[in-house]
Amino acid sequence: MTARIIDGNALSARVRGEIAERAAALTARGVQPCLAVILVGGDPASAVYVRNKVAGCEKAGIRSLRFDYPQDASQQEVMARLAELNADPSVHGILVQLPLPAHLDETAVLEAIDIRKDVDGFHAENVGLLSQNREGFVPCTPNGVMKMLETAEVPVQGAEAVVIGRSNIVGKPMAMLLTNAGATVTVCHSKTRDLAFHTRRADIVVAAIGKPRFVTGDMIKPGATVIDVGINRLDSGPDAGKLCGDVDFASAVEVAGAITPVPGGVGPMTITMLLENTVVSAERAARDAGK
Ligand code: NAD
Repeated sequence: MTARIIDGNALSARVRGEIAERAAALTARGVQPCLAVILVGGDPASAVYVRNKVAGCEKAGIRSLRFDYPQDASQQEVMARLAELNADPSVHGILVQLPLPAHLDETAVLEAIDIRKDVDGFHAENVGLLSQNREGFVPCTPNGVMKMLETAEVPVQGAEAVVIGRSNIVGKPMAMLLTNAGATVTVCHSKTRDLAFHTRRADIVVAAIGKPRFVTGDMIKPGATVIDVGINRLDSGPDAGKLCGDVDFASAVEVAGAITPVPGGVGPMTITMLLENTVVSAERAARDAGK
């Protein structure tokens, strides 16, 4: 048996087309969606992510503002910018690229974002709203995974789901979304005693670990859906320099019923959901302004 491939590039292209239409409709009503992105320091991976987010905005007809700060930027400087962006009605989304340099208080920075503009969904209040299954902003990567499950018509209600990883940006919100959608969810992490025991009974496995090819085919129940969130660059072996996920695709594809590849799986959906959250925020602002 060879698994069906869940194509993140194709889904992302389709959803981005819909987002562009919604952005154009808002612009025609005088409310062009706008995302402000703050980058502190010169981390090369962060710079690439920010570039891709800004380019994604441009293609979708979303205005973007970019604010670059040096590595030694002060907490006050960043907070002052956030206050300005919070107060600006033409800005609908605010994103602070993580990780921040160690001298900055990341929690304080994230909590300073107006929750109505918190399109990354990392503010504690949005996390609380998600846990209560109420309207707010949902973190982009797990939100993208839910969209992939939905379009691939993977039954979630009643399914046994295992999420590997408990980070605030992927694992925990992923578990919350699956719970809200009616799955029976187990969260595994670095202290889990027998990971394979859990994964082998799962109908849906979501891997968000950060360890290349860690989940192998023998850990998967035949026919299960495998969602690979990991993005790892291999630094040795025959594939050195290539990207791979947290799942050993070659062995898992032989056992699973459906699987996401890396690259071309969850990755493209993350920015897509950021664009969608920005448009949703602008739609709410237009509605509140009676436009
Ligand atoms: P993280 O380092 O914050 O969390 C990793 C989690 O894996 C932890 O909760 C830890 O307990 C768990 N873990 C570590 N070793 C384990 C083990 N041996 N067994 C079971 N669990 C173990 O990472 P993160 O930010 O959640 O990201 C996870 C992966 O997803 C990374 O590869 C990252 O690059 C990728 N990622 C991808 C996207 C995307 O857009 N596709 C977005 C965010 C993160």
